[in-house]
Amino acid sequence: MNRRRRVYEGKAKILYEGPEPGTLIQHFKDDATAFNKKKHDVIEGKGVLNNRISEHIFLKLAEIGVPTHFIKRINMREQLIREVEIIPVEVVVRNVAAGSLSKRLGLEEGTQLPRSIIEFYYKADELDDPMVSEEHITAFGWANPQEIDEMMALGLRINDFMTGLFLGIGIRLVDFKVEFGRLFENDMMRIVLADEISPDCCRLWDIESDDKLDKDRFRRDMGGLVEAYREVARRLGILVENNPAPHKGPHLVRSK
Ligand code: UDP
Repeated sequence: MNRRRRVYEGKAKILYEGPEPGTLIQHFKDDATAFNKKKHDVIEGKGVLNNRISEHIFLKLAEIGVPTHFIKRINMREQLIREVEIIPVEVVVRNVAAGSLSKRLGLEEGTQLPRSIIEFYYKADELDDPMVSEEHITAFGWANPQEIDEMMALGLRINDFMTGLFLGIGIRLVDFKVEFGRLFENDMMRIVLADEISPDCCRLWDIESDDKLDKDRFRRDMGGLVEAYREVARRLGILVENNPAPHKGPHLVRSK
Protein backbone atom coordinates (compact mmCIF):
# COMPACT_ATOMS: atom_id res chain seq x y z
CA MET A 1 0.00 0.00 0.00
CA ASN A 2 2.77 2.36 0.95
CA ARG A 3 5.09 2.91 -2.00
CA ARG A 4 7.04 5.78 -0.48
CA ARG A 5 10.65 5.09 0.27
CA ARG A 6 11.40 4.93 3.97
CA VAL A 7 14.53 6.93 4.68
CA TYR A 8 14.76 6.40 8.42
CA GLU A 9 12.75 4.83 11.22
CA GLY A 10 13.25 5.99 14.79
CA LYS A 11 11.58 5.26 18.08
CA ALA A 12 8.55 7.48 17.63
CA LYS A 13 8.76 8.65 14.02
CA ILE A 14 9.38 7.48 10.46
CA LEU A 15 10.89 9.63 7.72
CA TYR A 16 9.83 9.02 4.12
CA GLU A 17 11.15 10.52 0.93
CA GLY A 18 9.23 13.72 0.16
CA PRO A 19 7.46 14.74 -3.06
CA GLU A 20 10.34 16.99 -4.13
CA PRO A 21 14.10 16.77 -3.73
CA GLY A 22 15.19 18.25 -0.43
CA THR A 23 11.92 17.38 1.30
CA LEU A 24 10.89 14.55 3.59
CA ILE A 25 7.67 13.37 5.18
CA GLN A 26 7.81 13.03 8.95
CA HIS A 27 5.32 10.43 10.23
CA PHE A 28 4.41 10.36 13.94
CA LYS A 29 3.90 6.84 15.33
CA ASP A 30 1.91 5.87 18.42
CA ASP A 31 4.94 4.09 19.90
CA ALA A 32 6.26 5.25 23.24
CA THR A 33 9.71 4.25 24.38
CA ALA A 34 11.80 5.16 27.40
CA PHE A 35 15.11 4.20 28.94
CA ASN A 36 16.51 3.75 25.44
CA LYS A 37 13.80 1.34 24.22
CA LYS A 38 14.01 -0.88 27.31
CA LYS A 39 10.41 0.14 27.92
CA HIS A 40 8.06 0.15 24.93
CA ASP A 41 4.33 0.48 24.42
CA VAL A 42 1.88 1.59 21.77
CA ILE A 43 -0.36 4.39 22.98
CA GLU A 44 -3.21 5.00 20.58
CA GLY A 45 -3.62 8.62 19.62
CA LYS A 46 -0.20 9.87 20.77
CA GLY A 47 1.19 10.33 17.24
CA VAL A 48 -1.77 12.41 16.11
CA LEU A 49 -1.49 14.69 19.14
CA ASN A 50 2.29 15.12 18.82
CA ASN A 51 1.93 15.96 15.13
CA ARG A 52 -0.54 18.75 15.95
CA ILE A 53 1.30 20.07 19.00
CA SER A 54 4.67 20.10 17.22
CA GLU A 55 3.16 21.83 14.16
CA HIS A 56 1.66 24.51 16.41
CA ILE A 57 4.92 25.20 18.25
CA PHE A 58 7.10 25.15 15.12
CA LEU A 59 4.76 27.61 13.37
CA LYS A 60 4.79 29.94 16.37
CA LEU A 61 8.58 29.75 16.59
CA ALA A 62 8.85 30.55 12.88
CA GLU A 63 6.71 33.64 13.56
CA ILE A 64 9.35 34.97 15.96
CA GLY A 65 12.12 34.20 13.48
CA VAL A 66 13.41 30.82 14.65
CA PRO A 67 14.31 28.92 11.46
CA THR A 68 12.83 25.40 11.36
CA HIS A 69 12.62 22.42 9.02
CA PHE A 70 8.80 22.53 9.06
CA ILE A 71 6.94 23.20 5.79
CA LYS A 72 3.34 22.10 6.42
CA ARG A 73 1.20 19.46 8.02
CA ILE A 74 -0.11 16.99 5.45
CA ASN A 75 -2.55 14.91 7.45
CA MET A 76 -3.34 13.67 10.96
CA ARG A 77 0.00 11.91 11.36
CA GLU A 78 2.34 13.49 8.85
CA GLN A 79 4.12 16.70 8.06
CA LEU A 80 6.23 17.85 5.14
CA ILE A 81 9.67 18.98 6.24
CA ARG A 82 12.93 20.14 4.68
CA GLU A 83 15.66 17.56 4.56
CA VAL A 84 18.50 18.59 6.87
CA GLU A 85 21.73 17.05 8.07
CA ILE A 86 20.97 16.31 11.71
CA ILE A 87 23.67 17.41 14.15
CA PRO A 88 24.17 14.35 16.39
CA VAL A 89 23.78 16.37 19.59
CA GLU A 90 20.63 16.68 21.70
CA VAL A 91 20.30 20.11 23.27
CA VAL A 92 18.51 20.08 26.62
CA VAL A 93 17.37 23.34 28.22
CA ARG A 94 16.32 23.28 31.89
CA ASN A 95 14.51 25.79 34.07
CA VAL A 96 13.57 23.57 37.00
CA ALA A 97 15.40 20.53 38.41
CA ALA A 98 13.94 17.18 37.34
CA GLY A 99 14.88 13.82 35.87
CA SER A 100 18.54 13.09 35.28
CA LEU A 101 19.69 16.49 36.62
CA SER A 102 17.96 15.89 39.96
CA LYS A 103 19.56 12.46 40.17
CA ARG A 104 23.03 13.61 39.14
CA LEU A 105 23.25 16.61 41.47
CA GLY A 106 20.93 15.46 44.24
CA LEU A 107 18.46 18.30 43.65
CA GLU A 108 14.87 17.87 44.70
CA GLU A 109 12.56 17.71 41.67
CA GLY A 110 10.77 21.03 41.26
CA THR A 111 13.64 23.22 42.53
CA GLN A 112 13.84 26.38 40.44
CA LEU A 113 17.33 26.66 38.88
CA PRO A 114 19.33 29.88 39.39
CA ARG A 115 19.17 30.39 35.63
CA SER A 116 18.32 28.38 32.52
CA ILE A 117 20.92 25.68 31.98
CA ILE A 118 21.88 24.11 28.66
CA GLU A 119 23.28 20.59 28.39
CA PHE A 120 24.44 18.54 25.42
CA TYR A 121 23.98 14.81 24.89
CA TYR A 122 25.60 12.78 22.12
CA LYS A 123 22.96 11.01 20.02
CA ALA A 124 24.06 7.37 20.25
CA ASP A 125 21.49 4.75 21.28
CA GLU A 126 24.14 2.10 21.87
CA LEU A 127 25.71 4.40 24.50
CA ASP A 128 22.40 5.60 26.00
CA ASP A 129 22.96 9.18 24.77
CA PRO A 130 25.80 10.23 27.13
CA MET A 131 26.11 13.82 28.32
CA VAL A 132 29.01 15.57 26.59
CA SER A 133 30.69 18.97 26.78
CA GLU A 134 31.49 21.49 24.06
CA GLU A 135 35.04 20.09 24.09
CA HIS A 136 33.79 16.65 23.04
CA ILE A 137 31.51 18.13 20.38
CA THR A 138 34.29 20.14 18.72
CA ALA A 139 37.07 17.57 19.22
CA PHE A 140 35.05 14.82 17.55
CA GLY A 141 33.76 17.19 14.87
CA TRP A 142 30.04 16.78 15.60
CA ALA A 143 29.64 20.56 15.37
CA ASN A 144 31.99 23.53 15.23
CA PRO A 145 32.14 26.34 17.83
CA GLN A 146 29.95 28.69 15.76
CA GLU A 147 27.33 25.97 15.36
CA ILE A 148 27.39 25.33 19.11
CA ASP A 149 26.89 29.08 19.76
CA GLU A 150 24.01 29.10 17.29
CA MET A 151 22.36 26.06 18.91
CA MET A 152 22.71 27.63 22.36
CA ALA A 153 21.30 30.97 21.23
CA LEU A 154 18.37 29.28 19.48
CA GLY A 155 17.82 26.97 22.47
CA LEU A 156 17.50 29.96 24.79
CA ARG A 157 15.15 31.82 22.43
CA ILE A 158 13.00 28.71 22.11
CA ASN A 159 13.03 28.39 25.90
CA ASP A 160 11.98 32.02 26.47
CA PHE A 161 9.21 31.76 23.92
CA MET A 162 7.89 28.41 25.11
CA THR A 163 8.09 29.37 28.79
CA GLY A 164 5.73 32.27 28.05
CA LEU A 165 3.51 30.26 25.73
CA PHE A 166 2.96 27.56 28.35
CA LEU A 167 2.74 29.95 31.31
CA GLY A 168 -0.17 31.60 29.55
CA ILE A 169 -2.08 28.32 29.62
CA GLY A 170 -1.22 27.38 33.20
CA ILE A 171 1.71 25.09 32.45
CA ARG A 172 5.28 25.25 33.80
CA LEU A 173 7.97 24.41 31.24
CA VAL A 174 10.41 22.45 33.38
CA ASP A 175 12.82 21.32 30.65
CA PHE A 176 12.90 20.15 27.05
CA LYS A 177 15.12 18.60 24.40
CA VAL A 178 15.61 19.92 20.87
CA GLU A 179 17.61 18.84 17.86
CA PHE A 180 19.09 20.97 15.12
CA GLY A 181 20.08 20.32 11.53
CA ARG A 182 22.13 21.90 8.77
CA LEU A 183 20.01 23.17 5.92
CA PHE A 184 21.90 23.60 2.67
CA GLU A 185 20.46 26.17 0.25
CA ASN A 186 22.51 27.06 -2.83
CA ASP A 187 25.95 27.73 -1.39
CA MET A 188 24.59 28.66 2.03
CA MET A 189 24.22 26.60 5.17
CA ARG A 190 21.96 27.50 8.10
CA ILE A 191 21.28 25.83 11.41
CA VAL A 192 17.56 25.15 11.78
CA LEU A 193 15.37 23.58 14.43
CA ALA A 194 14.51 20.00 13.39
CA ASP A 195 12.80 16.89 14.79
CA GLU A 196 9.77 17.77 16.96
CA ILE A 197 8.67 19.65 20.06
CA SER A 198 5.93 17.77 21.87
CA PRO A 199 5.14 16.45 25.36
CA ASP A 200 7.40 13.49 24.39
CA CYS A 201 10.45 15.72 24.73
CA CYS A 202 9.35 18.37 27.25
CA ARG A 203 8.51 18.30 30.93
CA LEU A 204 5.24 20.16 31.38
CA TRP A 205 3.69 20.56 34.84
CA ASP A 206 0.33 22.07 35.65
CA ILE A 207 1.01 25.36 37.48
CA GLU A 208 -1.62 24.76 40.16
CA SER A 209 -1.43 21.04 40.84
CA ASP A 210 2.06 20.13 39.56
CA ASP A 211 0.33 17.35 37.57
CA LYS A 212 2.62 15.96 34.90
CA LEU A 213 1.35 16.56 31.36
CA ASP A 214 4.23 14.84 29.55
CA LYS A 215 6.08 11.59 28.84
CA ASP A 216 7.04 11.14 32.50
CA ARG A 217 3.52 9.65 32.83
CA PHE A 218 4.78 6.78 30.67
CA ARG A 219 8.32 6.61 32.10
CA ARG A 220 6.90 6.45 35.63
CA ASP A 221 3.89 4.18 34.90
CA MET A 222 1.40 6.85 35.92
CA GLY A 223 -1.11 6.16 33.11
CA GLY A 224 -3.28 8.80 31.44
CA LEU A 225 -0.68 9.80 28.85
CA VAL A 226 -3.02 10.49 25.96
CA GLU A 227 -5.41 12.36 28.25
CA ALA A 228 -2.50 14.55 29.43
CA TYR A 229 -1.30 15.26 25.85
CA ARG A 230 -4.89 16.01 24.85
CA GLU A 231 -5.10 18.49 27.73
CA VAL A 232 -1.96 20.25 26.48
CA ALA A 233 -3.43 20.41 22.96
CA ARG A 234 -6.76 21.65 24.32
CA ARG A 235 -5.12 24.43 26.32
CA LEU A 236 -3.05 25.42 23.28
CA GLY A 237 -6.37 25.82 21.47
CA ILE A 238 -5.62 23.28 18.76
CA LEU A 239 -8.05 20.57 19.71
CA VAL A 240 -11.56 20.67 18.38
CA GLU A 241 -13.69 19.81 21.38
CA ASN A 242 -16.01 16.86 21.09
CA ASN A 243 -18.99 19.07 21.87
CA PRO A 244 -21.91 18.65 19.51
CA ALA A 245 -21.65 21.15 16.67
CA PRO A 246 -23.87 24.18 17.12
CA HIS A 247 -27.30 23.53 15.65
CA LYS A 248 -27.32 25.01 12.18
CA GLY A 249 -30.59 23.67 10.78
CA PRO A 250 -33.92 25.42 10.77
CA HIS A 251 -35.06 26.29 14.26
CA LEU A 252 -38.38 26.31 15.79
CA VAL A 253 -39.89 29.76 16.06
CA ARG A 254 -42.31 30.01 18.90
CA SER A 255 -45.33 32.15 18.42
CA LYS A 256 -45.92 34.65 21.20
N1 UDP B 1 14.65 14.09 26.63
C1 UDP B 1 14.25 13.64 25.38
N2 UDP B 1 14.91 12.61 24.80
C2 UDP B 1 15.95 11.99 25.38
C3 UDP B 1 16.36 12.44 26.66
C4 UDP B 1 15.68 13.48 27.25
O1 UDP B 1 13.31 14.19 24.79
O2 UDP B 1 16.53 11.06 24.79
C5 UDP B 1 13.95 15.22 27.26
C6 UDP B 1 13.10 14.80 28.44
O3 UDP B 1 11.76 14.56 28.02
C7 UDP B 1 13.17 16.01 29.33
C8 UDP B 1 14.55 16.62 29.04
O4 UDP B 1 14.92 16.11 27.77
O5 UDP B 1 12.17 16.94 29.00
C9 UDP B 1 15.60 16.29 30.06
O6 UDP B 1 15.63 14.89 30.28
P1 UDP B 1 16.57 14.24 31.37
O7 UDP B 1 17.99 14.52 31.04
O8 UDP B 1 16.11 14.66 32.72
O9 UDP B 1 16.46 12.70 31.16
P2 UDP B 1 15.36 11.64 31.61
O10 UDP B 1 15.02 11.93 33.02
O11 UDP B 1 14.25 11.86 30.65
O12 UDP B 1 16.08 10.36 31.41
